[in-house]
Amino acid sequence: MSKPAAKPAALFNRVALIGVGLIGSSIARAAKAQGAAGSIVATARSAATRKRIAELGLADQVVETNAAAVEGADLVIVSIPVGACGPVAKEIAPHLKAGAIISDVGSVKGSVVRDMAPHLPKNVHFVPAHPVAGTEYSGPDAGFAELFVNRWCILTPPEGTDPAAVEKLAAFWRLLGANVEIMAPDHHDLVLAVTSHLPHLIAYTIVGTADELQTVTRSEVLKFSAGGFRDFTRIAASDPTMWRDVFLANKDAVLEMLGRFNEDISLLTKAIRNGDGDALFEHFTRTRAIRKGIVQIGQDSASPDFGRPHPDLPHEPLPKPYASEKD
Ligand code: NAP
Repeated sequence: MSKPAAKPAALFNRVALIGVGLIGSSIARAAKAQGAAGSIVATARSAATRKRIAELGLADQVVETNAAAVEGADLVIVSIPVGACGPVAKEIAPHLKAGAIISDVGSVKGSVVRDMAPHLPKNVHFVPAHPVAGTEYSGPDAGFAELFVNRWCILTPPEGTDPAAVEKLAAFWRLLGANVEIMAPDHHDLVLAVTSHLPHLIAYTIVGTADELQTVTRSEVLKFSAGGFRDFTRIAASDPTMWRDVFLANKDAVLEMLGRFNEDISLLTKAIRNGDGDALFEHFTRTRAIRKGIVQIGQDSASPDFGRPHPDLPHEPLPKPYASEKD
């Protein structure tokens, strides 16, 4: 009788997860599903989250402190708001295993490198990462194993990082379904300022503006939200702590992009004021092509209405004014 095929060895014997919210719990679920870790040890700041990690079975072991979590770990992933990464690096530094890979998932990379790197000992490999995938939900219940599939994970190793460590972390993310790209931290921050941080700021602004209008009631805003507002509200529902930290940490790049945005909105304002239909048409045609490009490279669905399933039509016969003459 032939032996069953041997299970492939895990990429890392022991993976430590510090912070188990949307991103940390998705890593835990995906790593487990893919056999990427021999064992997973997890911790979170609050006792309530640690209890929930255990209830959901997200880790083989749940420990109370960051120091205990990293003890003997080959890979440590810090998945907490970017403003909290520096103090956590300082706290775990004396407890790290020689040769371990230390990483994070923060949405800003320059500040994370500046805040974490000085605390880490020379005998570990620091490979910061940003999986460009998420939802507007938070906490350990919000994660799912497929979150990273066909999404990009950007690694930003500081100069001189061991290429073998970078490749090993890249292999981990590929196993979780992500495509991997390597970038300099500051370049990452500029790219993400335009593709993620500015859109979030615009959504937070628009939803706030609508909320403060006196002549249009709140109930009208909610009732007629399908006209475009609804899609901004999803983005503007994102975690306030995470996004406060992103704007504080990526100040320069966001201000640079905001300057350009203000110039462009002035041009469109002028076109509307002057009745310059050609300028508006040309601009909207250009932006429509960008949307097409995103769908073509598989970063969104081509389904209408932003991929939402449409509710079924009612089974009852249509009321008189809409029914065909034959009915
Ligand atoms: P989340 O669901 O809110 O989870 C945050 C985790 O960090 C929780 O375990 C929380 O612990 C812990 N935490 C919060 N403040 C802390 C502090 N001061 N010190 C130590 N731990 C703290 O957040 P998330 O969406 O997973 O985001 C985590 C990181 O991923 C952020 O850096 C964010 O920039 C990045 N990221 C997010 C997305 C996204 O779409 N959400 C996408 C890509 C990258 P308790 O539960 O015990 O409070």
